[in-house]
Amino acid sequence: MGDEKSSGGCIAAGRGFFHINSHGDAEPCPFSPYSDINIKDTSLREAIHSRLFTSLIEGDYLQEDHARGCVLYEKRDQVEALLPHS
Ligand code: SF4
Repeated sequence: MGDEKSSGGCIAAGRGFFHINSHGDAEPCPFSPYSDINIKDTSLREAIHSRLFTSLIEGDYLQEDHARGCVLYEKRDQVEALLPHS
């Protein structure tokens, strides 16, 4: 989605935007269906600072270079391990 290289990496997960799906789950972006928080239970401010988003940003998942496609999909095993049920 977009040109992550010119943006200094992926800007999902609250770096620039995030996505709320039809169930209220806050996800990094529409193409990354990972969530650990639901806006029915929390505020938007808390959602944008969710444990998952914070881990993705502070763990430098989003800024790593990737050849094509989605940086989080390329690391889906590691991303899924960050989720509470993993
Ligand atoms: S790299 Fe993945 S998570 Fe980031 S904006 Fe693109 S599709 Fe979404």
